[in-house]
Amino acid sequence: MSELKASQLTDLKNHLDELQQQLEAFLNLDEVAAETVDLDQGKVGRLSRIDALQQQAMAQASGEAHKQQLVQVHRALHRIEEGHYGYCEECGETIPFARLQVQPESDFCVKCLQALEDAS
Ligand SMILES: [Zn+2]
Repeated sequence: MSELKASQLTDLKNHLDELQQQLEAFLNLDEVAAETVDLDQGKVGRLSRIDALQQQAMAQASGEAHKQQLVQVHRALHRIEEGHYGYCEECGETIPFARLQVQPESDFCVKCLQALEDAS
C-alpha cells in the first residue's frame, strides 16, 4: 500500500480538471453532430443519407461514452474533496499512481476491474 503524496494528488486533480473541461467540450460537439445531420432527401443522395445516419449514430454513441466518463470524473473530483481518492471502490486497496496518471477517473484497481469485466 502506498498512499498518494500531496504533490501527486495535486497533479491528478489538475489532470481531472482538464479532463472535465475536455469532456464538456466534446459533449457539446457530440450534441451538435448528433443534431445537425441533414436528412433532407432532396439535398443528399441515398448513400450520403446512410452515411449521415451512421455519423449521427457514432456521435450519439461517443456522446454516451463521454457522458459516462464525465460522471466518473465528477465522482473522482468529489472523492478528492472528501479525502478518499485513490482507493479501489471494490477492495479498498490503493490504486497505483501510475494507473491514476493514465486514467485519473479510475474507480477500481486493475485486479477488481478485470474481475468485474470477466463477470459481465
Ligand atoms: Zn480493487
